[in-house]
Amino acid sequence: MNLPELGPISEFIRIPGVFYNSVTNAPFDKCLFCNKYLLASGVTYIIEKAFRNYKEVKKQDIIFEYALCCKCYNLFYNSFSE
Ligand SMILES: [Zn+2]
Repeated sequence: MNLPELGPISEFIRIPGVFYNSVTNAPFDKCLFCNKYLLASGVTYIIEKAFRNYKEVKKQDIIFEYALCCKCYNLFYNSFSE
């Protein structure tokens, strides 16, 4: 499989609406754990969102959604391996 070489990100795209905060209908702007402002230049963060689909009625529920700065993300996920 030929994958593109990874390197510094030079092109940015607008965050797709599916990753917006469903309460505010705007991009997540704070880390769930430490409240760090996420939309500043150079800040990297993770958005996790889970959906449940109801095919019979063509509906979808959000099970959970949050954004974590990379520092909190690493602390959180490393705590599972200890
Ligand atoms: Zn954080």
